[in-house]
Amino acid sequence: MTSSIQDVFTHIENNQQLFVKRLAEWVSVRSVSSQPELRGEVLRMVQMTAQHIERLGGAVEMVDIGTETLADGSKLALPPVILAEIGRDPAKKTVCVYGHLDVQPAQLEDGWDSDPFTLTHRNGKLYGRGATDDKGPVLSWLNCIESFQAVSKALPVNVKLCLEGMEESGSIGLGELIAERGKSFFGNVDCVCISDSYWLGTQTPCLTFGLRGLCYFEIEVQCAQRDLHSGVYGGSVHEAMTDLTQILASLVDSSGRILVPGIYKSVKPLSEMEAQLCANVDFSPEEYRLEIGATTLQQHTKEDILNHRWHLPSLSIHGIEGAFSELGQKTVIPSRVVGKFSIRTVPNMEPDEVERQVKDYVAQTFSELRSPNRFRITMPVGSQAWVADSTHPNYTAGRNAMRRVFGVEPNLIRDGCSIPVTLDFARHTALNVLLLSLGACDDGAHSQNEKFNLSNYMNGMKVMASYLEELSLVLPKE
Ligand SMILES: [Zn+2]
Repeated sequence: MTSSIQDVFTHIENNQQLFVKRLAEWVSVRSVSSQPELRGEVLRMVQMTAQHIERLGGAVEMVDIGTETLADGSKLALPPVILAEIGRDPAKKTVCVYGHLDVQPAQLEDGWDSDPFTLTHRNGKLYGRGATDDKGPVLSWLNCIESFQAVSKALPVNVKLCLEGMEESGSIGLGELIAERGKSFFGNVDCVCISDSYWLGTQTPCLTFGLRGLCYFEIEVQCAQRDLHSGVYGGSVHEAMTDLTQILASLVDSSGRILVPGIYKSVKPLSEMEAQLCANVDFSPEEYRLEIGATTLQQHTKEDILNHRWHLPSLSIHGIEGAFSELGQKTVIPSRVVGKFSIRTVPNMEPDEVERQVKDYVAQTFSELRSPNRFRITMPVGSQAWVADSTHPNYTAGRNAMRRVFGVEPNLIRDGCSIPVTLDFARHTALNVLLLSLGACDDGAHSQNEKFNLSNYMNGMKVMASYLEELSLVLPKE
């Protein structure tokens, strides 16, 4: 008699202790991609994972993607990308799973309640850097595959893995690799699944089918060769900070409306189906407000809030480089300041057009100041929004799997964040991408006390197992 998916579930349940121990091993590796001195740890994490996949019988290729140039001009080798295959049955469909093995920086002194690189179990939560973003979910795939093998149940589909170690540093080199292998490694893939996103709340599971893009701007204003004493020079100098704050204040009004002319023109109007999906989502504005700790939000109804987070652009002012920001009353006139802001973009907004609109408007605002100061605006990052076809069988498989494990219909949501690799898949392959979210909204990815709920970890492995089985049933046969 062949084993059933229920046997796989039982194996997962019986091995909770082992799976938690493994996650602790993974979290203990300080694979911070943005700190050059820790590059060896990223490499070690990639190698550990490759060996793990080989133990599962997978064929692993470690792809060299070259070097990165650091700010000081020196070169540093990038960690290789893992391209692996588990199962090569031509009679079966093939899913490609993407994930990342690097993490954001973390130190106990940042305000963690326990060492970020020692997985700590408190109240059903597993605390540690990378627990939810993205080591937990990547390890869940491997544990899930192992569980099929342990109960002698054949994998319902072939699994290809694309795992990188530079996601938190802009996925350098990955887009080129996906383009290069579009017809080879990714050639026989039927669909892609990524578990690197979060539920809208803490209870209802979610599938994510859209992300906003990001256009990041820097405005530099310089008024002198060195910082000046305001008592000595104040009153005689066209101050850079004064120019900059006036420009920043002209970008957005207090209700959140972006003041750059034309910026809303190409925003795709909401379709009836999108409005319906939004209306169906289980989301409490009050819970959301409390989670943020704000007294009042800019919108008040569920539909309005979600619309502004998912379907409309937003502009945020992030900071000013070169400005005085310490405690006390330093009476300085900063000589050079760089204001930083970004626009989260939505479908049909093209980064080139956004760049032109913003640059024209800011240049016009600056000229009206009649300032003699040196002025420059650049857009170092410009990425598009992404929306997948949520009626694709890939999504049916994800929905069925969530329903089976959680007993409820998952929320089909969009997210206001950006995951660059989804665009790379969209641009270089024609594959449908599903974001199968495992983490809860309060997991604190990138933040202090990042955690993964033990229940999300355990149920997540079952969702993945069920998803692989569902894929073999719903993907169209040739
Ligand atoms: Zn991530």
